[in-house]
Amino acid sequence: MEYERERSHLVKSLKEQGISERTLKAMKKVQRHLFVPSIHTSRAYVDSPLPIGHAQTISAPHMVAIMCDLLDLQDGQRILEIGTGSGYNAAVMAEIIGKKGHIYSIERLEPLANFARRNLEKTGYSNVEVILADGSGGYPEHGPYDRICVTASAPETPKPLLEQLKPGGIMILPEGEAFQNLFIVRKSMSGEITKENRGGVIFVPLVGDYGFNMFTGHR
Ligand code: SAM
Repeated sequence: MEYERERSHLVKSLKEQGISERTLKAMKKVQRHLFVPSIHTSRAYVDSPLPIGHAQTISAPHMVAIMCDLLDLQDGQRILEIGTGSGYNAAVMAEIIGKKGHIYSIERLEPLANFARRNLEKTGYSNVEVILADGSGGYPEHGPYDRICVTASAPETPKPLLEQLKPGGIMILPEGEAFQNLFIVRKSMSGEITKENRGGVIFVPLVGDYGFNMFTGHR
């Protein structure tokens, strides 16, 4: 398999950063070089974000790994992802939840939704469905979800996402404009919401009805 040595090297460094065996196994399998534009193929296993066009990026591998670990993904879950980008994060989650699980991934930019669909098709992740829409208000059609993964930074936690999270569910999302933090949001079985700040991050903005304004870039 192509780039196997580079991928193993990356996985080894993620292991040293304390990433779980489950996530490492998935990251060893998913071929990141098939999710980046061809001019960046040779840098696919460097642990950094890369441009995917349209002013967007594929997240750094360590960020994808941390988010998967914090989500505590389990076999067979129903997942909502907001911000498909290249489809890589969705592929890693699909590897972890297995064939019985399903991922609904929402992307607002059509060229990227198509890019992700092609990438997921050629790598064989048929349980990831890419939907072209503003996902800032979630995707109530198939909710509630066991897990929600938001990969763009919101001004605040969108209320519809809280409603679409199952009791016992976990959501992870970056929040903030100039200064962003990564939050884990948990919904208890009785519906109580708790929010834990996991520290500073840098993501592209969530743009839409419950995100930032498309034209001003602010709330
Ligand atoms: N997870 C992606 C990957 O593995 O390549 C990286 C996602 S990138 C950091 C964030 C994505 O969120 C961009 O593709 C952007 O277009 C998308 N996005 C921003 N606001 C959105 C919204 N309201 N609904 C859906 N997608 C949105």
